[in-house]
Amino acid sequence: MSMGGTECEHRDLEYLGEQKSEEGSNKYYLCKSCKGVIIIAPNMRGAYFVKRAGS
Ligand SMILES: [Zn+2]
Repeated sequence: MSMGGTECEHRDLEYLGEQKSEEGSNKYYLCKSCKGVIIIAPNMRGAYFVKRAGS
């Protein structure tokens, strides 16, 4: 699963958009480094990291 052995810190993010949810709006970001998707939920304590599954 790991490509280089170093853990990505998801610092280079590109804003993708947001999606309304029951608690507010989830914001979606694409990490340019690892191509993962980070979802930030407004009323949650942190961000979710979702590795991109091949489509
Ligand atoms: Zn990353």
